[in-house]
Amino acid sequence: MPKVQLSSTLHDADAEVLVIHCSDHRFQAGYYEFLNLKLNLDENYDLLVLPGGPQCLTLVEYLPKFSWAGWKWFRYLVDSHELKRLVLIQHQDCRWYEGLPFHLHSSQDPRRRQEEDLRRARAALTKERPELKVELYYAGWDANQHITVDEVAG
Ligand SMILES: [Zn+2]
Repeated sequence: MPKVQLSSTLHDADAEVLVIHCSDHRFQAGYYEFLNLKLNLDENYDLLVLPGGPQCLTLVEYLPKFSWAGWKWFRYLVDSHELKRLVLIQHQDCRWYEGLPFHLHSSQDPRRRQEEDLRRARAALTKERPELKVELYYAGWDANQHITVDEVAG
């Protein structure tokens, strides 16, 4: 394939935001729209995309190597880019959670498990980096299959 030239240009401005969300293909367009058009991040953020999204930051005892990698990436990005704000997103029908034992959470309800993990992640992140602002969101869909996003209260 010959070199492809895109209309996109290199972002020179410093990023202040790290976004962590799941890799599930069904939500990628919705995440992009939410981040850029609703949170107005203007395509200027660091992004960690992996199965289960920010859940990797909560698995210290159950999957310690997975958790270690999540924290390693988080610390690397925050330190090297001097980030100030984190956006953590979970989503409806996340298949990653189907493989997790129920004893990890206080509820068996899928959304409650994910929101519990978001709050755990925020508590752990702000304990280590109290200067960071951490926002929590939950994405789903409505009756017309439009993606919806709710902010998760602390
Ligand atoms: Zn998922």
